[in-house]
Amino acid sequence: MQTAAEYDWIKSAETIQPRNKAFIDGTFVDALSGETFECLNPATGAKLADIAACDAADIDRAVKSARTAFEDGRWSSKSPADRKAVILKLADLIRDNMTELALLESLDMGKLVVDAATSDVPGAASIFQWYGEAIDKIYDEIAPTGQNDLAMVRREPLGVIGAVVPWNFPLDMATWKLAPALAMGNSVVLKPAEQSPLSALRLAELALEAGIPEGVLNVVPGFGETAGKALGLHPDVDCITFTGSTEVGKYFLSYAGQSNMKQVWLECGGKSPNIIFADCDDLDAAADAAAAGIFFNQGEVCSAASRLLVESSIADVFLEKMTERAARYMPGNPLDPNSAMGAIVDETQTRRIMGFIDHGKSSSRLVCGGERVTVDGKGCFIQPTIFADVDPDDRLSREEIFGPVLAVSTFETEDEVIARANDTIYGLAASVWTSNLSRAHRVSAKLRAGSVSVNAVDAVSPMTPFGGFKQSGIGRDLSLHAFDKFSGLKTTWIKF
Ligand code: NAD
Repeated sequence: MQTAAEYDWIKSAETIQPRNKAFIDGTFVDALSGETFECLNPATGAKLADIAACDAADIDRAVKSARTAFEDGRWSSKSPADRKAVILKLADLIRDNMTELALLESLDMGKLVVDAATSDVPGAASIFQWYGEAIDKIYDEIAPTGQNDLAMVRREPLGVIGAVVPWNFPLDMATWKLAPALAMGNSVVLKPAEQSPLSALRLAELALEAGIPEGVLNVVPGFGETAGKALGLHPDVDCITFTGSTEVGKYFLSYAGQSNMKQVWLECGGKSPNIIFADCDDLDAAADAAAAGIFFNQGEVCSAASRLLVESSIADVFLEKMTERAARYMPGNPLDPNSAMGAIVDETQTRRIMGFIDHGKSSSRLVCGGERVTVDGKGCFIQPTIFADVDPDDRLSREEIFGPVLAVSTFETEDEVIARANDTIYGLAASVWTSNLSRAHRVSAKLRAGSVSVNAVDAVSPMTPFGGFKQSGIGRDLSLHAFDKFSGLKTTWIKF
């Protein structure tokens, strides 16, 4: 069998046929308005498909379908073991269709196809498998009432879940929501990002093939301001689970307040610090991880280690190591297995990142990169870029760039770096590099971040919760805790 690095992705891309309609009630349908929008490959500018541009009317149709499916129990009243069997089948189908899903992901948003094939797609399959396997191992509770009463505390599915996701890991971000929500017995209306609807539409078809009944999973592509807003405001949606920017996360809180007070769970932005103490005993490993932490997926990662805080005594040595590593991430054709970094998702995001870089050239010291480039004369590509001497109050230190741009600054003491690391509106992730065990515990405990990695960057697994403090969000994805978002507790008290 060919490995992802051996496969001829370029040839395969010539014949791919993306699904382009909304998936509602088990079938592909046009938007009721008949409108479409263009889906472009950011690496070449070529059109991939005309996608149904759904709006409030289509969202309403999808929510009605999801509600009907939920109420008649075609999925919600199946036993956990039956739901598990279907979800495990879906995990297998994702693996069986790995090359197609990886290609769709890469063509749609510019990431390296090899990363999609070795990380995103197997990752999605393993998340479905994890939640499928978990769902029939969760027990409800009996409260310690005493002999004359019986109080049962049960988890029940919430009903109709609206899921709104971003473009940086289109398949995985959708999966983080869908797997626990569906395993719990809910129906879902998923709105993928307008920049990257293709893998979600194919996933919906695979879910039907696996045995998830019509209406239980609906995928409605469209713009945020129309389809996303309509889902947020819909009076018959019980819960919104969102991943995206902090700015749009706040809209969803307001949509809930303006409509039916639906539950809102938010996974939002970050500006994650990566702290390198001089007592770190493997600076090469730290530099490898720091580079991957900001250049993997073109830096379009919510938990990207975008602030590098290095102890002064090792700053020059470490920066040199970082410069060497950055040179290994030069962008190339995302379909070429030899490329090290892919394309930025679209022209708008490319210009936004270049705006930060242009600002940085006057506010800080450009160490490497800093240019927009083309591959084969086309596309949205940016060199891996490092700025040093970045002031803690500069935009490069404070704002989420969501691109391959690293802001480096130095520190003298542990207290100083903890204060600096926490001096942000975000609290998604943080990393600490030290060989001093006491310091590792002390610093981790003081960092306000949902995930702290010690001698690693961005450690993430289905086993552990993922999400943020402060304006990085509300609630947690992954782990058994994700079930809390998609279920309500019911007490049934029986008096003897
Ligand atoms: P975004 O907030 O612009 O869009 C996210 C989703 O919201 C898209 O589906 C979009 O169509 C929709 N949307 C946009 N405007 C809307 C509106 N007015 N009303 C309703 N819906 C609307 O984010 P993005 O640019 O797609 O993704 C980048 C952001 O996502 C970054 O801030 C990143 O940190 C964040 N992110 C967070 C996590 C996490 O787990 N914390 C993971 C990945 C990405």
